[in-house]
Amino acid sequence: MGDEATSDEGKGARCLVLYRPIGPKGGLMANLFISNHPLIQHKLTLLRDVDTEPKRFRELLREMTWLLLYEATRDLALRERPVTSPMGDAVGQVLKERIAFAPILRAGLGMVAPALELIPTAQVWHIGLYRDERTLRPIEYYTSVPRKPAADIAFILDPMLATGGSAVAAVDILKGSGVGRIKFVGIIAAPEGIEHLSNAHPDVDIHVAVVDDRLNGIGYIVPGLGDAGDRQFGT
Ligand code: URA
Repeated sequence: MGDEATSDEGKGARCLVLYRPIGPKGGLMANLFISNHPLIQHKLTLLRDVDTEPKRFRELLREMTWLLLYEATRDLALRERPVTSPMGDAVGQVLKERIAFAPILRAGLGMVAPALELIPTAQVWHIGLYRDERTLRPIEYYTSVPRKPAADIAFILDPMLATGGSAVAAVDILKGSGVGRIKFVGIIAAPEGIEHLSNAHPDVDIHVAVVDDRLNGIGYIVPGLGDAGDRQFGT
């Protein structure tokens, strides 16, 4: 990872993010959004802490999901809707597109409630993938995704972008259902996961709080936070 960070503030930035050079050639990754928001970085530190218990871990994950989704939804389309307040008429705006959240089981489950708090009208499509411990490849065991296009934009929810295998498989599934736009929203990414996902699906925006150093030999992110499912559910 390079240390340089380039803010695109003042150049029509889509949101308050840093674009950091990564990848083998150190080139800018246009589809990678790393939040530099102090609240996100503060909560990330507490989330990583080995002494943070499952109840607090779930609360932090919920709060971070709000903040990351706030940024990831910045370019959603709006349509005008007249509204009458007690004082008079105004031209309001409401969300135009059909939205879906696609949590990858099981760690993505903790991101669903806060996502629905932000957009209660969204659909939730569950994607069950586990990693084969030997090959580290994703195995699909449960999918509840409509066969016909039922959303204009889908947000994949998974706290950890490790090898990228599950994220790539989830995008494959969503594209197969006809979703036109897909974004990945997570907390911690490994450089390997970003490279895998952006090579396989360069059209998918990736929103995370941080990109960590590396993966270890069994596909865990270092320093990461451990197993995001175990830490939420106390297993
Ligand atoms: N999944 C996790 O929960 N943690 C990691 O570090 C990698 C994948």
